[in-house]
Amino acid sequence: MSAPFSWIKPHPWGVEVVPAGAFIDPARAVDKALVTHGHADHARGGHGETFATPETLAIMELRYRTGAADDAGEIPHKAMPVEYGETIRLPGGVDATYIPAGHVLGSAQILLEHAGERVVITGDYKRRADPTCAPFEVTPCDIFITEATFGLPLFTHPPISEEMGKLLSALEGNPEGSVLVGAYALGKAQRVIAELRAAGHTDTIYLHGAMEKMCRLYEEHGVDLGELKLVADHTKDDMAGSIVIAPPSALNDRWSRRLPNPVTAMASGWMRVRGRARQRGVELPLIISDHADWNELTDTIRQVNPTETWITHGREEALLRWCELNQRHARALAMVGREEEDEG
Ligand SMILES: [Zn+2]
Ligand SMILES: [Zn+2]
Repeated sequence: MSAPFSWIKPHPWGVEVVPAGAFIDPARAVDKALVTHGHADHARGGHGETFATPETLAIMELRYRTGAADDAGEIPHKAMPVEYGETIRLPGGVDATYIPAGHVLGSAQILLEHAGERVVITGDYKRRADPTCAPFEVTPCDIFITEATFGLPLFTHPPISEEMGKLLSALEGNPEGSVLVGAYALGKAQRVIAELRAAGHTDTIYLHGAMEKMCRLYEEHGVDLGELKLVADHTKDDMAGSIVIAPPSALNDRWSRRLPNPVTAMASGWMRVRGRARQRGVELPLIISDHADWNELTDTIRQVNPTETWITHGREEALLRWCELNQRHARALAMVGREEEDEG
């Protein structure tokens, strides 16, 4: 008998599933990768085989052209689709099941089972309802490997209806102008659009060109985003009284001069920190996050109730301390290269 959990081994660049010769969300190219979701700090090109949900594989193909042929005309990469709820048998007798993480389209937690032991890796996750992806499922396990992007008690995300209300009243207050919302191109942008639709906003929403393909991909996967048009095809007059969605980098860019008198907004969990909004010249901070906030991180640990909690990335110290105070075994993994500035 080998030592308990000797088959799962954390490295700074990814968690290794030893008997399978596989890695979870590796930051470097490997032969066999199990990928939780399409954000660049978890998914990258260059792996031999990538096991991920069909949606995540489509996102990776769009962003990294993972299925492109090399100089010899070969496609070196093998996409291995795994549906939600499906269990695949990896080499070495390890079973992997993909379970919704509620973070972005296609995002999954990965349950690994071997030698009677259960390990769940969340990837990034959230607990709030999101019309663009399947909701997080609590999965009991022995070792729970969690993110901690917003792992400080000051991070509490308000209800999204409040933030949508702020956005729509800013638009009402600026009928001849526009509201420009900075939103991360994968996940946040589509969620903001879908939440606007759910709040009854049926007007055309204008997009920065960098958003178009990902919005189309969401639509192809059944997420209705209503009428979307490109800023580049329209005049200031056309866009008067409209909401415009752009990547955060475009907020203070020359590009925004083509919009009619824009109020600048940004949708991110980081907008809880006033300095961050000020730094970016954001007039209307919208606290909309695709990650669990502090209470959701701690509630989730209680619900999953693991023997041990491992913390991959974010503000791990506070969550580690919380675990200690609550008599829970925990360790910080100090993963490198995680967390994109604007992804929050
Ligand atoms: Zn993510
Ligand atoms: Zn992440």
